[in-house]
Amino acid sequence: MVGSGVRLRTIDGVPPRPFLVSVTALRRSPAATVQHERRCGPLDGLAVTSTRVPSGAEVCVDVDLEAVHGGVMAHGTVSAPWEGECRRCLGTALGTLETEVRELFEPNSADDDTYRLRGEQLDLEPLARDAVLLELPQAPLCAEACQGLCPTCGANLNEGECSCEAQPTDPRWAALDALRHET
Ligand SMILES: [Zn+2]
Ligand SMILES: [Zn+2]
Repeated sequence: MVGSGVRLRTIDGVPPRPFLVSVTALRRSPAATVQHERRCGPLDGLAVTSTRVPSGAEVCVDVDLEAVHGGVMAHGTVSAPWEGECRRCLGTALGTLETEVRELFEPNSADDDTYRLRGEQLDLEPLARDAVLLELPQAPLCAEACQGLCPTCGANLNEGECSCEAQPTDPRWAALDALRHET
């Protein structure tokens, strides 16, 4: 919800609405003029499953704004740090997402495919939120080489081998395994 009390707090000179861009000059000049904008700020409530943008972390929108017939095209990237639970070892997984965006802002946005342009004000926040929610990893890994947990004892195998693997295989089971592998 735009204009909530939380957003009115100003931290170290960061404007309360960092994603609000004035496009007055762009709208008045001839077509094919590009306005570059890089806007960063904290956005609360960005989460999917166990993965989220940490509270207070900055989401950045880096776009070229281009006047097109009927509106403004925003083309560039959205980036944000994320934290979640590793799907193999259940430890903390950290990363940074960056995703490309190409979205149209229109004065009378009737459908869900475009964003609303309000007068000379273009709000990049909804675009940033949508892009981050689409890109947040739903089942992340702490590292590509994560060893996960031992299925028998639950030990974290990233911290070393557990005693399960050191145990000699019962010869009776070994015979059964051999049979299984033949089929
Ligand atoms: Zn892991
Ligand atoms: Zn084990």
